[in-house]
Amino acid sequence: MAGWRCAGYIYIGAGIRGGGALAGGFQFDGAAGAVAAPGTPWRVGVNVPWTVSWTAEQKFDIKLSDDFPGLVDLVQAQNPGDGLPRFAAMHITRHRLGIAYHFCHVCGRRTLARDRFIFPVQSGGFVTMPDESQRYAGNVPPVHLACAKRAARLCPHLRHTAGAAVPYPSEDSRLMQRTDIMPGMEQLAKTLPRGLKIVFSCYRLYGPRFTRQVERLRAALPPP
Ligand SMILES: [Zn+2]
Repeated sequence: MAGWRCAGYIYIGAGIRGGGALAGGFQFDGAAGAVAAPGTPWRVGVNVPWTVSWTAEQKFDIKLSDDFPGLVDLVQAQNPGDGLPRFAAMHITRHRLGIAYHFCHVCGRRTLARDRFIFPVQSGGFVTMPDESQRYAGNVPPVHLACAKRAARLCPHLRHTAGAAVPYPSEDSRLMQRTDIMPGMEQLAKTLPRGLKIVFSCYRLYGPRFTRQVERLRAALPPP
């Protein structure tokens, strides 16, 4: 099997304020991400996560948002498997669907509450709320347990951080949008209509109980 590559397992960054403005983070398509070597038999859900974008998907449009009333979503052409995977770049539309509707980051099928996991040690970050409390913010869609195990076995990043998937919290989470231009998307943003609030990305803001669990898990990690 060809080597597994990860997408999105990058920290958002700490010290972020306001609950709606995460700094830094992973790249999205529209960015100058690395392109995989030609001739490799990549397959979605097998050695390429579903949320990774492909070279044949470099077309973008906007439409009224279903998830964020009054705003406009950036949408990306959907042709997974066509061309080559761009591991450094999440697919804008699939990522949003995964975060909003709990589609599996690895295989793309919907996760049910009884089989829904995330990797909160390896992805996401903390947001400072207006009352100065911290909340964990997750920017990678959930995974099925079987998909989490496959990812943990094959993904070098997950293997090295020794992090197991954590059951998705029963505590409520909030779907949040980002209308700021993400790093690497500056050129794409110039081609979009001015004066519109365009949703470039989204994430989930988790509750205080799960936030404490993530803090404990991260504190228990061995030093790098
Ligand atoms: Zn899955």
